[in-house]
This record gives sequence, structure tokens and C-alpha cells, in this order.
Amino acid sequence: MDYKSTLFIKEHRRIIIYIKQRELEQRMNQTLLHLENVWKIYKMGEVEVPALKGVTVEIKKGDFVAIIGASGSGKSTMMNLIGCLDMPSKGSIFLKNKDITKLSESNLATLRGETIGFIFQQYNLIHSITAFDNVMLPLEFLEIDDKTAYERAKKILDMVGLSDKTHHLPTQLSGGQQQRVSIARSLAADPEIILADEPTGNLDSVTGKSIMEMFHRLWKEEGKTIIMVTHDLKLAKYAHTTIELKDGEIIRIDKN
Ligand code: ADP
Ligand code: MG
Repeated sequence: MDYKSTLFIKEHRRIIIYIKQRELEQRMNQTLLHLENVWKIYKMGEVEVPALKGVTVEIKKGDFVAIIGASGSGKSTMMNLIGCLDMPSKGSIFLKNKDITKLSESNLATLRGETIGFIFQQYNLIHSITAFDNVMLPLEFLEIDDKTAYERAKKILDMVGLSDKTHHLPTQLSGGQQQRVSIARSLAADPEIILADEPTGNLDSVTGKSIMEMFHRLWKEEGKTIIMVTHDLKLAKYAHTTIELKDGEIIRIDKN
């Protein structure tokens, strides 16, 4: 083989190695969450309840995931682990390439606070303070000045269509409005991931649909990664990826 061809082959190899490295880097960057053989076994006295049995899944940045499955299949357990609210009995969970089981309490709290916004079925708002102050709460843990925090809370409440309800107490709001406040609260610290466990479970179907449309907009226009649990298959259709759990195991992953 002549000198030129050898050079050409060498260069070609170099480019392929470079592309492969870039692909790997990009994939690593895009993987926001990685669960590797995750087990959760609750202990109730002498009895052990295996709620998750070796769950392995990768969730990419910018995905919209619906977790479905019968009651008791482990959906909330999986959400609590993803949200770093609980630790697995076995296995690893990587959030932004960091193994959460190996972080200190305070590093974990910071990572969680910066990365994840939570939405619950029961809204979990503080009833003694206004909608506005509920949204302000997570902002108090960030290093931003009062004026910026105030402006941000105002803007987010506006975005969820509640600018005329900011001074209402949660009890003076409908279920759908309370869930909008809780969505606004979850967005306050501008997290990359929104975790929602049965967010429409307490709402009528029309209100549930409007909440889902809001998630869809956050996903499409704000680039949020959304992971939600729902038992409503019609609402799961809004998601891009569907993960089905059965008895603590993933039995299906579908992409829309
Ligand atoms: P889902 O959200 O799909 O309804 P969960 O994750 O709440 O399911 O529960 C999965 C299993 O783990 C169930 O059998 C449930 O009874 C059990 N479980 C959940 N939380 C606890 C707990 N704190 N202590 C003991 N068992 C629990
Ligand atoms: Mg649940």
C-alpha cells in the first residue's frame, strides 16, 4: 500500500474514533437519570415488602415520561427514588451523572433543590399562606435577591394563568387552581426535571386535561424533562415515553 493510502486510512480511523467519543459524550450528557438494578425493600417489622425489584432504565434530558401500572406496582416508590426523597435498598441511581447513593446529605439536598420540582396528587400547599407566598417559598433557598424572587414568582403565576388569584389562600381556590399553584411552585427554582405523582388524580377529567396541556407546553416550549405517574391511559398519551410497572418490575417501555 502506498504512503498516501496509509495516511488516508490512519486519518479515517482517527475521525471514526473522534466521532465515537463525541457520540458517547453526547449520550452521557443527555442522560439525566439512570437507574441501575434498583431495588427497594420496605421492612415492616419482620415482613419484607419488595416494592421495586431490579429496575434499570435511562431517562434522557428533554423526555416526557409517563409511569403507569396498577395500584401497588411501585410507581410512587420509583418517583421517590428518582426525586432523591428516599434511597434504594440495592442498586445505583445516577442523577446528572452523580451517584446519589454516594452523596452527602447536604450535597444531595442542593442537587435536588436545583434540579427537581415536585408536584403531588394532594397539591401539598401550605394552607396558612397565599398562593403567591407558596410559590415564593422555594425561592427563599436560592441565592437571589428579594426583588428578583418577587418578579419571578409573579411571572410564573402569570404563566399558569393565576395572576388574579395570587393573594388567595389555597382553601379559596378550586382543585385545578391549587394544582396550578403547585405547578408554579415546582417551577420557581427553574428545575430541569418536573416530577409529578398522579398530578390529576384529584381532578375532574376536563381540569386534568388542562393540567396535562400545561405539562405538554412546559416540555415543548420550556424544554423541561417531565416524569409523571398516572393511572389514566388517555393522559399517558401526552407523554413521549411510557414505562409500565408491574409488581415492582418494568414490563414495557414504549416510545411515541
Ligand atoms: P403505587 O404508587 O404504584 O401504587 P407504591 O410504590 O406506593 O405503589 O407501593 C408499592 C408497594 O410497596 C406496595 O405493596 C405498597 O404497599 C408498598 N409500600 C409502599 N410504601 C411503603 C412503606 N412506606 N412501607 C411499607 N410498604 C410500602
Ligand atoms: Mg402511588
